[in-house]
Amino acid sequence: MKYVVVSGGVISGIGKGVIASSTGLLFKTMGLKATSIKIDPYMNIDAGTMSPLEHGEVFVLNDGGEVDLDLGNYERYLNVTLTRDHNITTGKVYKQVIEKERRGDYLGKTVQIVPHLTNAIQDWIEKVAHIPVDGDNEVPDVCIIELGGTVGDIESAPFVEALRQFQFRVGPENFALIHVSLVPVIHGEKKTKPTQAAIKDLRSLGLTPDIIACRCSEELDQAAIDKISMFCHVGPNQVLGVHDVNSTYHVPLLLHDQKLMEFFSKRFKLDELKLSSERI
Ligand code: ADP
Repeated sequence: MKYVVVSGGVISGIGKGVIASSTGLLFKTMGLKATSIKIDPYMNIDAGTMSPLEHGEVFVLNDGGEVDLDLGNYERYLNVTLTRDHNITTGKVYKQVIEKERRGDYLGKTVQIVPHLTNAIQDWIEKVAHIPVDGDNEVPDVCIIELGGTVGDIESAPFVEALRQFQFRVGPENFALIHVSLVPVIHGEKKTKPTQAAIKDLRSLGLTPDIIACRCSEELDQAAIDKISMFCHVGPNQVLGVHDVNSTYHVPLLLHDQKLMEFFSKRFKLDELKLSSERI
């Protein structure tokens, strides 16, 4: 199983969901089975009790799970049927850990965010990633995990720490990270500083970006790509521009044209994966 985490920096609502769905779709075009998990770092158990004015429309899954609209994007882009467990919230993992504590599962131990909550998050991700989602009962090859909110927020801290540990649990050859950042255009100039700061924050928490996806109102030029590459310690092929488009269904093409799948083919050695039909 390959895991691709999509996180975001600078501001929320930056387009992580669309980039995560598009990445999953591109894996599908390579003949791999893709699934996805959405992490929402709020204390609500699910989105069912939240105002649509504050949160956007609630998406209802086949099993009745009331979740974030992003799960609807995944179902449409990937042609899969997800379950309520594919949406992890702070409320859900705390509830699980507290119920275990009351049952006496941790008897004698002091229950802590690290390692008990972070372990519960990792176990949850691994379990749910292996659920067949496209109706043919086969375990997916790739799991896209979207981390809601912005890296550096207090709300997402336990999830960021869990994902930091998770890269060692599954091995670096099975774990990659796309960080979505913002490149604002001020007086006609593309500003890379917010992205530099966002990547610095990410690295300080122990996560390394494999791809920096830069949301920008305009197309990203080579000078901006080179600057982000230099200051963020990644190759220029790891900096992708995702400018504003009329329809978000253009985003998979944008990523494809910038050779996202060539990068992942090498990074995950996908040729070997297909040859050996490896489905761990
Ligand atoms: P996040 O997951 O970071 O909260 P979303 O993926 O839900 O962000 O996107 C937020 C909004 O921005 C949505 O309305 C989406 O349609 C829009 N959006 C995302 N990417 C683009 C893009 N490249 N061009 C235009 N609109 C976009």
